[in-house]
Amino acid sequence: MKELDMTGIETPVALSSIPKFEPQNSSISISVLVCEEKELIPVYTSKFCNQRPHHVNLLLLSKGDKFHYTLVTSLSRLVGSNTRHDGKSFVCPYCLHHFWKEHCLQNHLTECSQHPDQTVTYREKGKNILKFDKVQHMFPVPFALYADFESFITPSGEHVHTGFCCLQVSKFPQYDHKIHTYSVDNVVQEFLKYVTQ
Ligand SMILES: [Zn+2]
Repeated sequence: MKELDMTGIETPVALSSIPKFEPQNSSISISVLVCEEKELIPVYTSKFCNQRPHHVNLLLLSKGDKFHYTLVTSLSRLVGSNTRHDGKSFVCPYCLHHFWKEHCLQNHLTECSQHPDQTVTYREKGKNILKFDKVQHMFPVPFALYADFESFITPSGEHVHTGFCCLQVSKFPQYDHKIHTYSVDNVVQEFLKYVTQ
């Protein structure tokens, strides 16, 4: 086995020394993850992912000023334990996003590798739904139509329209609160004729 070139690199190898290790060992690329509050976070991802014969994923464990690297033999299994998908997955080393098809990961990598490492986090349950509540910031529409159809159902299950009522609301007083009703035949055609007139 070819020996590693550790010239100028002290052991234990600090995270800050890995960018020095890679240029000296041109067949190896390295990515390092840490685990914080049960979340995996990439703290160093090689610029040479997928470009060198050997890629090594490491999990950095630390306590106080002591630290230790453990080898991650399957990144998809380590990250994939958080998903319900039980098939093989392909993980982006830069953002740890899962892909179920390898070509999807390759397409993603061309974009994602242009950016620094990222971690996706989600708000906890109860705070994870965004709602629009700034009603005062909405633009008023000049006209609105509220329509209601009446129909009956034939014994064969067919809906037959018998009439409609349309209320026109407008910010212009002369067009506001106009009610139009229609019944008998050709109800849908008459409705379309009314709203497009
Ligand atoms: Zn990514």
